[in-house]
Amino acid sequence: MTILNAERSPFREQQEQLEDTYLAPQATRSRSSRGRDVPEDACVLRTCFQRDRDRILHSKAFRRLKHKTQVFMAPVGDHYRTRLTHTLEVAQIARTIARALRLNEDLTEAIALGHDLGHAPFGHAGEAALDAMFEAGFAHNEQSVRVVEVLEPLNLTREVRDGILHHTGPVAPLTLEGQVVKIADRVAYLNHDLDDACRAGILQPMDLPSDVRLVFGDTRGERIERMVLDLIATSGADYEAIRMSEGVHETFLELRRFMFLNVYHGSRAKIEERKVQGIIAGIYRHVMDNPVVLERALNREVVESERERATVDYIAGMTDRYAIAFYEKIYVPRSWSLTDELPS
Ligand code: MG
Repeated sequence: MTILNAERSPFREQQEQLEDTYLAPQATRSRSSRGRDVPEDACVLRTCFQRDRDRILHSKAFRRLKHKTQVFMAPVGDHYRTRLTHTLEVAQIARTIARALRLNEDLTEAIALGHDLGHAPFGHAGEAALDAMFEAGFAHNEQSVRVVEVLEPLNLTREVRDGILHHTGPVAPLTLEGQVVKIADRVAYLNHDLDDACRAGILQPMDLPSDVRLVFGDTRGERIERMVLDLIATSGADYEAIRMSEGVHETFLELRRFMFLNVYHGSRAKIEERKVQGIIAGIYRHVMDNPVVLERALNREVVESERERATVDYIAGMTDRYAIAFYEKIYVPRSWSLTDELPS
């Protein structure tokens, strides 16, 4: 069957040729990818970035995102964002921008789906708690790369790993597609966290500063559309970087400051953070003191010198509900039902 020869596959080559004719000159082409650490045969059907996207989607770490907090802890309400729905919103916004700018939509989607794979349970409170416990420090973007390189090795292309690593922090991603995800992440979380804060009764849309309302409008749809349109118009003028126009960016930063002041740092959601520190610290101590727990969870021997790192990996991989169940099991006395003690 000649079509199964990956070296000369008409299907993949067709995709690569489409990229050549369709993409902007500044876009990243899958054919010129810097490649994988471990060389492997190309896929018969998909470009290297399409393949990376699928590997991320099929990973266990991706599925665990559904039970990890975005901002509101282990929400009981069905309509609050989780880390998974946040990831999907980022991917959607990023793909819209990439397609309009004729950048590589597959690379953009792969980076977006993978960007938060290493996020700790309980959102940024969990991240801060792990960072305080672990001497080498903990940051979710570095952990995301550790997930795809070490913990659940996917052998992804350099461009995807770079975009995941630099989706936050001062260093710009290598590719414009990585830059799209970095800004789409902010557009997504500011808008959906605002929506969730209104749902929780922390804010009303009318509480937003007047110039934020003037520039971005009063509904979530209007806000996202105006941010995305400005990003596309500004970045598409010269393709030097993915950015907003100066005035719109100023207002965007004002919205960000408002959200930090009123939601991320100054609300009920924040009060829960002390409890998160207690849970993470409790689990950390227990696992460090009982290496057999770790060995049973990882199904392998853990030598003394790697115990701390493996403990951090184990806790970072937990979902909110797994961490709470774990904590309950080791620290909360088990309750026996009264009926157990009644004579039959
Ligand atoms: Mg994110």
